[in-house]
Amino acid sequence: MKRLAVYCGSRMGAKPHYEQCAHALGTAMAERDIDLVYGGGKLGLMGVVADAVLSNGGQVFGVIPEALRDYEVAHQALSELYIVKDMHERKAKMTELTDAFIAIPGGIGTLDELFEAWTWRALAYHHKPFALLDVDGYWQHLSLFLDGVAQQKFMSDARRALLIETDDINDALDQLTRACDGKKSQFIW
Ligand code: AMP
Repeated sequence: MKRLAVYCGSRMGAKPHYEQCAHALGTAMAERDIDLVYGGGKLGLMGVVADAVLSNGGQVFGVIPEALRDYEVAHQALSELYIVKDMHERKAKMTELTDAFIAIPGGIGTLDELFEAWTWRALAYHHKPFALLDVDGYWQHLSLFLDGVAQQKFMSDARRALLIETDDINDALDQLTRACDGKKSQFIW
């Protein structure tokens, strides 16, 4: 795994643990020589992850839609900032640039990005692994809800099992690395 897309809040959230996690993830990525692909912003946890990767010598690739850049929230010190037309192009570009995805705490933008990575993988548009990193139980309700979706037969167990879930950064990076197996994309029903 050479590049990892991090999906996370454009806010800091209510607890200091979230910021600590974003910082620790960026630092661990740089230590493992894993470059960051992300939304290109400097706000909230997004800025914290980007700064941690950059200050530890890693490379950071941001992908931001024109309209958000114009609100002047784009991070100015990135290795490369791609300006794209809209959110659709952004997610497609991030998917093209990265080897894997991880979601840490965030809001609807983070959920949208995670679910798109998941649905595109299930429909064989890519074969890149994705993980949900729990911090202080933040994703517990979502995880239980997703179990319910599978139990109620709106998703197969095979699709449910695609999502890697852990509360440990090194475990997440290890599992994602192992899952970057270079296999061809495959439809998961
Ligand atoms: P949210 O979880 O709703 O805070 O949205 C964060 C996610 O959506 C990030 O992973 C970004 O890719 C994208 N995003 C949302 N707001 C912004 C913003 N102001 N600047 C850059 N990216 C953003």
